Amino acid sequence: AVEVGGDDKEVVREYFNGTGFQRWKKIYGDTDDVNTVQLDIRLGHSKTVDNVIKMLTDDEDGGRPLRGVTVCDAGCGTGSLTIPLAKEGAVVSASDISASMVAEAERQVREALADDAGGELVMPQFKVGDLESLEGKFDTVVCLDVLIHYPQSKADAMIAHLASLAERRLVLSFAPKTLYYDLLKRVGELFPGPSKATRAYLHSEKDVERALEKVGWRIRKRGLVTTQFYFAKLVEAVPAA
Ligand code: SAM
Repeated sequence: AVEVGGDDKEVVREYFNGTGFQRWKKIYGDTDDVNTVQLDIRLGHSKTVDNVIKMLTDDEDGGRPLRGVTVCDAGCGTGSLTIPLAKEGAVVSASDISASMVAEAERQVREALADDAGGELVMPQFKVGDLESLEGKFDTVVCLDVLIHYPQSKADAMIAHLASLAERRLVLSFAPKTLYYDLLKRVGELFPGPSKATRAYLHSEKDVERALEKVGWRIRKRGLVTTQFYFAKLVEAVPAA
């Protein structure tokens, strides 16, 4: 297994089982009790989810290309991606370091299942655990907005591990490190708000690409989602050979 995290990881686990869970459940939900910034992040994140579904279904000629395809949703949160994937007929293995997140994702899937008149939804398998403890082989591995919790020094090992689980493709999203966003982040660090409980790490696309190339993968598609307060670079990688 790859060792990642140290203190960071324990802090992240605690955060996403506590205040972070409450905060992100609200952001990823559909209730009205969100402020302008949270609403903006909700919108940005939902665009990322839509883009991923498009990426994973685009290159096939119609039908339901994800039907029966094994997908690992690594760091699944409240199931924002797990549920649309399961509705597309994918056989999803979803996991998260936070037990609270996994319980909420399971609850939302049961709710979706109750509404699933056509009976198309395939029940995902859920597990509490960190990315490093993931095992097995999946057609597709997806890891959305989790790299923000990994410093670049740990990100390479995390990306290599996820690639080793994927047979055909790996989809990653991360907050891009550009001068402008770096600056924004530094300003944020000067004035930390009360809800800033974890460190946020930005990644340059070049660094992510290099980490993929090191283990024999290449980027096939790229996307960028930005709203006022949400920035995500999206890459789909495939084995280079
Ligand atoms: N991927 C989900 C989505 O896009 O809706 C959730 C994104 S949320 C910003 C980040 C998630 O990553 C949290 O649910 C957190 O518990 C999880 N996470 C952070 N570090 C992790 C790790 N080392 N292993 C597994 N999950 C982790």
